[in-house]
Amino acid sequence: MIGQRFGKLKVVSSAPRAASGNIMYHCQCDCGETTLTSASHLRIGKTRSCGCLRTESAARATLAATTHGMKNTATYRVWAAMLSRCRNPNAQQYRNYGARGIAVCKRWHKFEGFLADMGVCPEGMSLDRHPNVNGGYKPSNCRWATTLQQARNKQNTIYLEYNGVRKSLRDWEDDLGLPKEVIYGRVKNGWSVERAIETPYQSQKAHPR
Ligand SMILES: [Zn+2]
Repeated sequence: MIGQRFGKLKVVSSAPRAASGNIMYHCQCDCGETTLTSASHLRIGKTRSCGCLRTESAARATLAATTHGMKNTATYRVWAAMLSRCRNPNAQQYRNYGARGIAVCKRWHKFEGFLADMGVCPEGMSLDRHPNVNGGYKPSNCRWATTLQQARNKQNTIYLEYNGVRKSLRDWEDDLGLPKEVIYGRVKNGWSVERAIETPYQSQKAHPR
């Protein structure tokens, strides 16, 4: 991991493990900032800069919106479709979204708010909502993802509740840096979810018997 590059970040050195058990690294961003991030977020591409990338693309997007207007862009179509399936009872998909209580946060009722938070839709990607029961469409719950990522998200049907948060096994794996097979195996063996998630995992490779 050390020396590897992920987007604008270069991994510099390891840092103490997070309380959650996540493996952490100090990274150097191309913009000059340093940042602390988890190995799993780097690996899955969730963290690609110190935060400057998101700010940059959002600023660029806002500028584009004010100067040219964006009604004919993919980003606008994605936003309009999201709003429609959640808020228009006549929309075809409404029964799977709005009718089931999946809401759009107030800030995103306006295209400008959505654009400022999400930036422009990257080519080949679409809006992915975390399949969280109470999630809805809001910044903390959405990302741009490829169709493949979204399919993986949907396939994963095993959910675990921990600290009052219900997430798929794959998402716990991404968040905690703990292999999902390990979490699942422990729970199957009768461990409580708390113990399964909080007990650090030592791979056999690192600790030969
Ligand atoms: Zn940066």
